[in-house]
Amino acid sequence: MLGLYIHIPFCATRCHYCNFVTTAEHSPELKKRFFKAVSAEIKHACDRYGPLLFDTLYLGGGTPSSLSIPELRQLVGEVHGSFKFSEGYEFTCELNPGDGDESKLKALYEGGVNRISLGCQSFRRRSSGGSGAGIRCAILSGRSQGSVRPVFPISALI
Ligand code: SF4
Repeated sequence: MLGLYIHIPFCATRCHYCNFVTTAEHSPELKKRFFKAVSAEIKHACDRYGPLLFDTLYLGGGTPSSLSIPELRQLVGEVHGSFKFSEGYEFTCELNPGDGDESKLKALYEGGVNRISLGCQSFRRRSSGGSGAGIRCAILSGRSQGSVRPVFPISALI
């Protein structure tokens, strides 16, 4: 079983306890360098290993959901254009609940994402950095009904 993991280093803030390679800088220049580096890595993998068939695809971070819809489309398009994936492969994207508006969820679903990993550090309104009222958790089940499934407010659970 072969899995492809792509690390997206961009985050809204740089958390002091985090050991991952991340940055809170989102300048166009840095983004350009990042996507160029990812393209180079993809090309290198194709040149070195030939046609690869993956069983899973995972966009992790960092905060992949912080990418804009065009950026996500570009990345996913390049990955799908370069590698093959087994039928019904699992495609996961880590999601910051604050990024999960409907248009982004739809774009992820249309890009083939069928599993969301939610980065919820707290379900308490007061602990959620003041964004509790605006936080919405999303469940994406691409396999069940062929569409984005309910988006439900965390406040309904507590
Ligand atoms: S990956 Fe998560 S914990 Fe690490 S800096 Fe980004 S948001 Fe913070």
